[in-house]
Amino acid sequence: MTQARGSNIIDLRSDTVTLPTEEMLEAIRNAELGDDVYREDPTVNRLEEMAAKKMGKEAALLVPSGTMANLVSLMSNTKRGDCVILEAESHIYWYEVGGLSAIAGLIPWPIRGHMGALDPQDVEAAIRPKNIHFPETTLVCIENTHNRAGGTIITPQQIEALSRVTKKYGLKLYMDGARIFNAAVALKVDVREFTRHVDNLMFCLSKGLSCPIGSVIVGDSEFIERARKIRKMLGGGMRQAGIIAAPGIIALEKMIDRLEEDHRNARLLAEGITKIDGLYVDLRRVQTNIVLIDVSGLGVNSETFIAKLRERGLLASNHSKTIVRMVTHRGIEKEHIERALTIIEEVAKELRVKR
Ligand SMILES: *Cc1c(COP(=O)(O)O)cnc(C)c1O
Repeated sequence: MTQARGSNIIDLRSDTVTLPTEEMLEAIRNAELGDDVYREDPTVNRLEEMAAKKMGKEAALLVPSGTMANLVSLMSNTKRGDCVILEAESHIYWYEVGGLSAIAGLIPWPIRGHMGALDPQDVEAAIRPKNIHFPETTLVCIENTHNRAGGTIITPQQIEALSRVTKKYGLKLYMDGARIFNAAVALKVDVREFTRHVDNLMFCLSKGLSCPIGSVIVGDSEFIERARKIRKMLGGGMRQAGIIAAPGIIALEKMIDRLEEDHRNARLLAEGITKIDGLYVDLRRVQTNIVLIDVSGLGVNSETFIAKLRERGLLASNHSKTIVRMVTHRGIEKEHIERALTIIEEVAKELRVKR
């Protein structure tokens, strides 16, 4: 399997650009299939069982995307008109087209976190008291690793502290764990340390784990039954979905441990960039596979910087007006990082001369 664009391009826009491995393609070819809406696809059933077990929960549900996983989970945890507490830069709030309001009928109550982590005291203070005027707060969402905070890890201890608040008020605690395995690998702990204190969660197969498609929702059986019905309502009931589940099984068996390489490469990239005049990386945030680069010291915006990198064959994404994002993933080796650093240095030099 080869990347559609030229092989000289170094693509650090996202870990979603990863292609399936040969073994995944082979597994797709050989997958035992059935109609999953009738729950007759043995490969999907196997993936869902594996995922539930791995996360220490009762049941799981395969969905086409992370965005749908979050929407289905929000709807399965709440009723229309409820208030949902989430981090102000969370993916659900920023990047999901407002589905939580437009489709789920929910009121987002954003709170600013510290490096992506919500402070339990802030959460407690944000819960709307019982009052005839107020919407009812029923759910708290966390994101792990936190994408816009730079792939930062919300530790098991931090999750436990939040769960004490949600339990006290009878709220549900949900985790957008799109990259939860990055967190587990980085802290060298079993992923269940992260899932133990949340009611339910989702994780992505299609990012660092290299699958072409798919995310998985995990939780108790009753929750997953509701989620299954809502997935159907949203048009996400799939038929021979074993072709999606087959590479997912390989991802869970074989693609988790290698995330460590991505973390090593992100660190290498980040440390190299801190040595370049005019660029700034907050190394405390480089905990997994994401690097946020502040280019404001060069007097340019991120769009200009990204365009210059692109001319030289390095792709990055736009985080904000002055921050450029790079993400490491399978297919990016140490040599690519070294070449990327050379390109970044050249561009920074060119822009410094222009100042
Ligand atoms: C990528 C991502 C999603 C959504 O996944 P899609 O498959 O792109 O819809 C949700 N949450 C987080 C934190 C993500 O990084």
